Amino acid sequence: MVNVITLILVYTNNYHFLYYSSIGVDDSPGFPILVLEKGIWYYIQVLVLCISILYSITVLIIKLKRSSGSYRDKVLFLLIGVSAPVITMMLYMLGVGPVYLDLTPFSYFIMSISITIGLFRYDMLVLNPITYEMIFQSINEAVLVIDSNGMLLGFNNVSKEFFPSLSKLKIGQSYELIEELKNHNLDSLNPVHEICGRKYSFKAIAMKTHRVCIYVANDITESENAKKQLEILATIDSLTGLYNRRYFMEQVEQARLDGVFIIMDLDHFKVINDTFGHFEGDRVLSDFGILIQHTFPDHISCRYGGEEFAIFLAETSLGEAYKRVESLRQKNNMGTQSCKVTFSAGISEYVLGTETVSEALIQADKKLYEAKERGRDRICF
Ligand code: GH3
Ligand code: MG
Ligand code: MG
Repeated sequence: MVNVITLILVYTNNYHFLYYSSIGVDDSPGFPILVLEKGIWYYIQVLVLCISILYSITVLIIKLKRSSGSYRDKVLFLLIGVSAPVITMMLYMLGVGPVYLDLTPFSYFIMSISITIGLFRYDMLVLNPITYEMIFQSINEAVLVIDSNGMLLGFNNVSKEFFPSLSKLKIGQSYELIEELKNHNLDSLNPVHEICGRKYSFKAIAMKTHRVCIYVANDITESENAKKQLEILATIDSLTGLYNRRYFMEQVEQARLDGVFIIMDLDHFKVINDTFGHFEGDRVLSDFGILIQHTFPDHISCRYGGEEFAIFLAETSLGEAYKRVESLRQKNNMGTQSCKVTFSAGISEYVLGTETVSEALIQADKKLYEAKERGRDRICF
């Protein structure tokens, strides 16, 4: 404003003499020099200029103290640039230097060169916002910047991909207008939100100094699926769909209950493989897995080994367990007329605290061995 007023006043000075109160020519030094009597606006303008430059110098000195490396060089160039007019003005006022020469225009020249070097050589002011914008847009996560009133201050391109309704919104609109985020409390303790069939993990960064909150959302659908897949692979036997032995033992240990262990082993399974082939053998194992799941749906069961299966009947007596396995044995109609698939089983009791799960399983295995010894297709306990 002051600069615009100054410009107008200088051009119209002849009408009001607010900038220069008188303009004349003095020939006394032997050559003509312009004699300018300063008007009121001249002093106002110089005062504003001085305050502005001193403010700039203060800001730059603070920045200089806080910066390092090439950024420090940039600030130094700017500092030299803005200091030049002040120095020349002070020299002029103190009467140092050529009496008839106003050095101020030359100092502006120095200032321009110095600032130009700062701007172009170090890409000062131009590069930084662009760099920040590029970083902001190249982040693979959605970033939403929201102020304390719930207004959108910024969002990157990825957030538009994650939440398409953002494409229709503008900065300054309420973030509650993001359709996909309705009914989702982004500050809740559970950072994972399921939105439109995909899973997103949200991180909230509160910047108290600027009264804004930055939400960073990561699409974790694939990694969560892979994690689930890995969990399945680590706990489930792919052929039978039952737990594997390690996970079965872990589950029984965690249950911390008394009960009964049953180990079943298919009789002469090698013959099935040799007669009908390995593929058919696999099918029999898979069918036996389904049979166990149907017969003992509420109990922990597993594929214990090749053609061996184990079940833990929690809070069940030895007699009750025997009855259930015996009924399964009698109902079993697996295989063909000529080649019936039978199984033998060993049962042992497990009393919490008196022995380990492994020890109880060894006992069941011993009973299984006894059943095999006594002719197979039977249960021992
Ligand atoms: P027994 O009555 O004494 O248990 O005789 P068996 O033939 O069942 O026992 P053995 O230990 O001699 O043989 C077990 C067979 O089970 C040998 C092995 O090839 C087969 N087997 C183990 N795992 C698999 C599998 O995943 N698929 C198939 N098809 N066969 C398997
Ligand atoms: Mg066998
Ligand atoms: Mg076996």
